Amino acid sequence: MKVLVVALLCLVVTSATVKFNWYEVIRVYPKTSVQLNFIRHLEHSGKYDFWKTAATKGFADIMASKENMISLKSMLRVTGIRYSIFISDVQGKIDQINAIPRKEAGPKSSRYALTWDNYYQYETIREFCYALAQDYPDLVTLEVVGTSLEGRELVLLKISSGGEGKPGIFVDGGIHAREWISPATVTYMMREMVENYAAHPEVVDNVDWYFMPLINPDGYEFSHTDNRMWRKTRSTTSIAGCYGADPNRNWDFHWAEGGTSSYPCSEIYTGPVPFSEIEMANVRDAILARASQLRIYLTVHSYGQMLLIPWGYDAVYPEDYPELEELGLAATDALTAVYNTKYDVGCSGVIYGPAAGASDDWNKGVAGIKYSYTLELPDNGRYGFLLPATEIMPVAVETWEFFRVLAERISAN
Ligand SMILES: [Zn+2]
Repeated sequence: MKVLVVALLCLVVTSATVKFNWYEVIRVYPKTSVQLNFIRHLEHSGKYDFWKTAATKGFADIMASKENMISLKSMLRVTGIRYSIFISDVQGKIDQINAIPRKEAGPKSSRYALTWDNYYQYETIREFCYALAQDYPDLVTLEVVGTSLEGRELVLLKISSGGEGKPGIFVDGGIHAREWISPATVTYMMREMVENYAAHPEVVDNVDWYFMPLINPDGYEFSHTDNRMWRKTRSTTSIAGCYGADPNRNWDFHWAEGGTSSYPCSEIYTGPVPFSEIEMANVRDAILARASQLRIYLTVHSYGQMLLIPWGYDAVYPEDYPELEELGLAATDALTAVYNTKYDVGCSGVIYGPAAGASDDWNKGVAGIKYSYTLELPDNGRYGFLLPATEIMPVAVETWEFFRVLAERISAN
């Protein structure tokens, strides 16, 4: 009997992965300002997982357990807010996607294990970065700009063909753990610039690129090993059992203002103080060390197919908004021309209402980087964060055109 109990305990411990059986995601469509405020209030309550925050003229995507969903739907009916089913069984969707046979596509290397027909954990991405730096010392410089709370390296790759006075572009990925398409796409850009340099030297020759493909490695790893829907960092909070801050509400520019939560269990928790999250503090320092050279800051998220322009702390346009919009439209037009994937370009605070303390605002408002953007990769209503790995290559190939336009259009002035 004792043996059986021990065996059962082991089973519980080893199968710690969170299951989302009968969790549902619904898309809700608030029409009036009262309805919109109601939905935003729900988000701040911390009870529901907002896959997508409510757009002022649009929808929100909300995940909840079966029990919570029953009460949510009845509240929606009472308040007259229309909704539709986005994903009816999240675990079923996860299992279904995991069962899709891996289609070998895209580049392969004998020097590292990373490919673009599968999603990989931290160590494989780190190994890829080191391999690029080792194999292409004339183009690539690797720097570890610090470690995460759990000791993982925060790797920065500079890709440059040398020379002085070039404009710099800083790109980060994986700030939100569950947005797996982000590091997958960012690493593809790095590979294309380095291993395929000869096919388009101008992309690298006109610019110094700085890439940090995975800036929330602890959260990202946790989303692979324990909880596929993890978003935040993994720091401890003042509430037992609630972990992490939203790394994209943790930056010190209008910190803890609108669209944030001081409740540690919320998905949009600000953290106790600005830059409380060691990963964000390290990225901040890496940016400040080269801020005078940087002309573009691009942070890569999913999902929604949007290019968001500051400000995000409130529904306010920066003075130079038309210039940011012009470059953004040129880059997304080039992307769309590949497979006709449509992107919207707009001001984040105007589209979504306030979400203060995000990295794009800080990079424009404090670091002084003029062209600061948040790119929300696909999709837009079929899989959400659960984008199958067979989509990595199409997303990467079309997004390459976006990057190419940034390099082409930016100048050192
Ligand atoms: Zn995100």
